[in-house]
Amino acid sequence: MSELLIKNAHTILTMDDARRELRGADVLIRNGEIVETGQRLTTVGRTITAGGCVVTPGLVNTHHHLYQTLTRAVPGGQDALLFGWLQTLYPIWSHFGPQEMFTSTQVGLAELALSGCTMTSDHLYLFPNGSTLDDTIAAALEVGLRFHPTRGAMSIGESDGGLPPDALVEEERSILEDSIRVVDRFHDPGPEAMVRVGLAPCSPFSVSRELMRDAALLARDKGVMLHTHLAENDEDIAYSLEKFGCRPGQYAEDLGWVGEDVWHAHCVKLDSAEIDLFARTRSGVAHCPCSNCRLGSGIAPVRKMRDAGVRVGLGVDGSASNDAGNLIGEARQAMLLQRVARGADAMSAREALEIATRGGAQVLGRGAECGQIRKGFRADIAIWDVSGVESAGSWDPAALLLAGPTRVRDLIVEGREIIRDGQFENFDLAATVAKQNVLAQKLAERI
Ligand SMILES: [Zn+2]
Repeated sequence: MSELLIKNAHTILTMDDARRELRGADVLIRNGEIVETGQRLTTVGRTITAGGCVVTPGLVNTHHHLYQTLTRAVPGGQDALLFGWLQTLYPIWSHFGPQEMFTSTQVGLAELALSGCTMTSDHLYLFPNGSTLDDTIAAALEVGLRFHPTRGAMSIGESDGGLPPDALVEEERSILEDSIRVVDRFHDPGPEAMVRVGLAPCSPFSVSRELMRDAALLARDKGVMLHTHLAENDEDIAYSLEKFGCRPGQYAEDLGWVGEDVWHAHCVKLDSAEIDLFARTRSGVAHCPCSNCRLGSGIAPVRKMRDAGVRVGLGVDGSASNDAGNLIGEARQAMLLQRVARGADAMSAREALEIATRGGAQVLGRGAECGQIRKGFRADIAIWDVSGVESAGSWDPAALLLAGPTRVRDLIVEGREIIRDGQFENFDLAATVAKQNVLAQKLAERI
């Protein structure tokens, strides 16, 4: 039996159904599960003293392309719109191999962990030079976050009128075969799962209608989730109307891409009927505010979505279009962006934190066991030291989003301390960052 006690926290923001906030309270963890919250708890295991700290559920990232940490701030892509940005980066990504995938994934995961993230999805949709989803899963096991990799895909290359170069696309049959392989090998449906695999054709403009439909059928057959990019910007809507003769929501519905087991990234341009469709079908949205700002895509109607009952989580999106991967920063940006669109009362700090925690867990199909500090839930917890300069003078735990800090003091995943006093426990961050910088330089020399 392993136990861990978080003792005497300044405030615990539980994000449970009553949204309880506990002052001067403790959390007892046993074998990876939260077994009790309250005062004067004791343990036979280790105690983490949390005076001067705000304790929250671990944040959940619902959209990322971790490999892109190797292509941050690439000069030709810094100021381009989505399609131009992609055309700058595709040739660079075509030089990636297993080592690039592994190291860039670890850097992205470490960056997320430091910003309070305990569970993340990843959308990998290109597999050049022998790289596989396995590379990213091996990387995640070392860092220690709960990982939901999705087997992405692109099948329409330049010669077929698509956007990506032919070297980066795959045959649809081999996409489906490899999807079956990675699900059978890695997917764990259990409540304690550290790895769950999803299926994720890249976007309606990079795969065929048939592959979208086949992926949906396969996902349902295997009991795994579906993910893609949808309605990201005006170009995306225009493409859908021209090529498919309908809006993205209709396209998704026709192909089986709505439901509780589906979540779509961005959805900046959903109209009222599409928001109703998402609410009715319980389809999820990965809201990526920094990426939407960075690429000038627009402001997603998150207020409207939430009011309609759409399940919304947060995503930092790929590091080539953010370029940061700071999830608590993303929650702050989500709050600010709704206020730009609709005024200062459009979204509170607490609501943004809710979206970042229990909201994300629901979107990834983990709402019954993750995203809350509550008896019987998995022990995924972030501890924020609010006694420092960033939040000095603050009157309320909302300071976490309104002021700071933006890095955790401690991070616990499945009852294990991943970060203690700001340092990784079992992962060499400095060596990984050094490796990543060497890889980036080598790529730059080849371009
Ligand atoms: Zn994306």
